[in-house]
Amino acid sequence: MAATSVKIPEFETTAVDVIPAIASNVRGTFRTNKTKNVQWRLTQLRKLYWAIEDYRPQLMAALKKDLNKSEYEAVLTEVDWVKSDCMFMIKNLETFVKDEKLAAPTVPAHFSLMKFRVRKEPLGAALIIGPYNYPVQLTLSPLVGAIAAGCTAVLKPSELTPNCAMVMKEMVQKRLDPNAYAVVNGGIPEVTALLEEKWDKIFFTGSAQVGTVIAKKAAETLTPVCLELGGRNPAFITKNANLKVAAKRLLWGKTLNAGQVCLSQNYILVDIDLVPNFIEHLKDAYKEYFPNGAKASPDLGRIVNARHFHRLKKMLDETKGKIVMGGEMDESELFIEPTAVLLNSTNDSMMTEESFGPIFSIYPVHSLDQALNIANSVHRTPLALYSFGSKKENERVLNEMTSGGATLNDSYFHGSVNTVPFGGVGDSGTGVAHGKAAFDTFSHTRTIAEIPNWADGILRARYMPYDFKNLRM
Ligand code: NAD
Repeated sequence: MAATSVKIPEFETTAVDVIPAIASNVRGTFRTNKTKNVQWRLTQLRKLYWAIEDYRPQLMAALKKDLNKSEYEAVLTEVDWVKSDCMFMIKNLETFVKDEKLAAPTVPAHFSLMKFRVRKEPLGAALIIGPYNYPVQLTLSPLVGAIAAGCTAVLKPSELTPNCAMVMKEMVQKRLDPNAYAVVNGGIPEVTALLEEKWDKIFFTGSAQVGTVIAKKAAETLTPVCLELGGRNPAFITKNANLKVAAKRLLWGKTLNAGQVCLSQNYILVDIDLVPNFIEHLKDAYKEYFPNGAKASPDLGRIVNARHFHRLKKMLDETKGKIVMGGEMDESELFIEPTAVLLNSTNDSMMTEESFGPIFSIYPVHSLDQALNIANSVHRTPLALYSFGSKKENERVLNEMTSGGATLNDSYFHGSVNTVPFGGVGDSGTGVAHGKAAFDTFSHTRTIAEIPNWADGILRARYMPYDFKNLRM
């Protein structure tokens, strides 16, 4: 089916006054205990898998309308990504839910007549708030974790991708248990109303600024949060890097989804002697990617809306650096060309702010020492870092700078394999998702001790009056 022939309903926000009833319904459903049944969870996961398959044309059309996402990216990073999450959980859920017996060394020998085990229990009713850049993946993948763990959930997709939001609403409501899973559409007023409700877990993906709002509100009721936030991610290029490969891979990091990726590098710290060559390799890679120019490419996405277009334009207009690749912009198409800026100062918004678009900066450094000093002072806890150097240099970068995750000699890979744990650190996020971690995030780790009645004789020393005669202190 051609994307243009697919009908998607007009965006409609959910009335704020029905939000308490929606929240109360999913909370009530959790209390029935039906979501604790593993076969019930598996059925919901299978239903979600087939819903995504059946709604594929609508999802693809929505991604095209909202972000001009190419079919290739829409399939790989959104639609099939979530289907693959479903399959992973369906295959492994019965293993994940098994009680884990605890033994030595966790249980000391003198407690060995007691039985200890750990049970993964669903936390309850979850609120999942999504961002705009991967509207399908970053709303539905957490849902897969919530269903697998046995939680009920309300989803709040980004209002900046209204078509995706409407398709997901219809799909979830029609295909999943409507008493357990619901979608609320809207923006700040609707999130504000949702945050007035009591949740057992809030899973938020978005900016650090809004993450702070969520965390403060959640703190009032001691609600646990998983925050997947943004980062000003550095890349390091030393004399031992393969410059051609580094340029190609880092440019990929800024062309995928038009650079609207939390993981993409914000700035690249390049050994000063390599800078001219590195720029040449970037330009070569650009020509390979876009033989007819970036604007004519059917693969390059667009900026989500005019506000973000102007935010990025402002960064380029105000930088004191020099544009060494790209620079073309067209507001009528929300097009921004993949653009590299050579900086002469570290005090430039092209380095200090998250670009979250196809623009990035290069800053020449004299040594890895200097590079690490700069990166640690720009943002001590980025979501990601990328190091292109010798094994020893890459290890040094890992040791001397923290980050949510890291990829060595490439871009993105620690976050693009959907089964390995993924999350931020410090102000780039708290909590882990993807694969089994998504199940764990929505689960409570409940330790259970079972004490045999016959052991009372042995355990009597704890009772008052304390008799120390028989104890070695
Ligand atoms: P955002 O924080 O503006 O919006 C995220 C969600 O919060 C949306 O659903 C929105 O409706 C809601 N929201 C916005 N303002 C709000 C407010 N004042 N009060 C309550 N709710 C509000 O984020 P975005 O622009 O959609 O996404 C971009 C950001 O997300 C970037 O910083 C990016 O790095 C980050 N991100 C992080 C990850 C990750 O996995 N760590 C993934 C994708 C995006």
